[in-house]
Amino acid sequence: MGDEWMIKERIIKKTLVIPGKTVSLKDFGTGWAHYTELKDITKEDLKKAAEELLEENRQALASAQELLWASNIYSVLIVLQGMDTAGKDGTIRHVMSGVNPQGVDVSSFKVPTPEEVDHDFLWRYSIKLPSRGSIGIFNRSYYEDVLVVRVHPEILDRMRLPPGKKNGKFWEERFEDINAFERHLAHNGTLILKFFLHISKEEQKKRLLKRLENVEKHWKFSQSDLAERQYWDSYQDIYEKMLENTSTEYAPWYVIPADFKWVARTLIADIISTKIQALDLHYPEVSDEAMANINRAKTELNGEKK
Ligand code: ATP
Repeated sequence: MGDEWMIKERIIKKTLVIPGKTVSLKDFGTGWAHYTELKDITKEDLKKAAEELLEENRQALASAQELLWASNIYSVLIVLQGMDTAGKDGTIRHVMSGVNPQGVDVSSFKVPTPEEVDHDFLWRYSIKLPSRGSIGIFNRSYYEDVLVVRVHPEILDRMRLPPGKKNGKFWEERFEDINAFERHLAHNGTLILKFFLHISKEEQKKRLLKRLENVEKHWKFSQSDLAERQYWDSYQDIYEKMLENTSTEYAPWYVIPADFKWVARTLIADIISTKIQALDLHYPEVSDEAMANINRAKTELNGEKK
């Protein structure tokens, strides 16, 4: 067990984008066979171990979330990004399945509405941030504003930015704004964890074909998925820039290999539960006065006539 734990720790360390370091997505891998730590394990054994670990982490996460809620000091913001079909929705469903739904909010962000365009680019995300004690999951996030918008800069034309703003420093300034926003949240008690679900182009093709071939998956297919696939290489470049400019001590990025859903879900569940547990949360202490009230209530209820 000791060995297994060390292997897991080493793999998780490899998914972390070290702040300030140049990022090449090719170094991260999208499967699991590239991890030398796993070279002596068969796929079947690994999958079985991963599923057991996922189950353990689901339970750990359920307890950690209860404590997070009771202590009511920290909030947790989980950001999920990835190319279409990378598995963001499924990850949320599987990782969070044991958690009390009252303490978790999932927000998905699509093309900004006119009301959203009427505000600064971070506004629509700010109003969905988790409150103390809660977990907020962003299925896509303000990172779209340095991803899809950077791949298709014409989107900016309808954002009504002040003249001269779209200068050579535009993206650099957006990264600065995002880092400042996250630093502010971290200072105020938000644990921020960001996951990039990293799939290969071949795996995306398989998943898109599955959507086309399976009647029950037809609803998930969108023509825009194919259109965006044409920009695969631009997205990879722009993801690299985003990762290297916005992975910080207070809001790190993890590049999660996502060609195998069970790998991605297990790693993400482990990172989230470990990080929440590390907050060192405690149930609130009961004051002497509250304890006296509890004892009085017990006596009163026990003394009720039938
Ligand atoms: P998902 O793939 O996230 O599960 P979806 O593909 O079904 O969801 P869509 O209706 O396609 O959801 O909405 C997501 C689309 O909105 C994506 O193409 C995304 O790039 C786009 N989008 C999100 N944020 C922005 C933004 N700030 N500016 C422009 N487009 C955005």
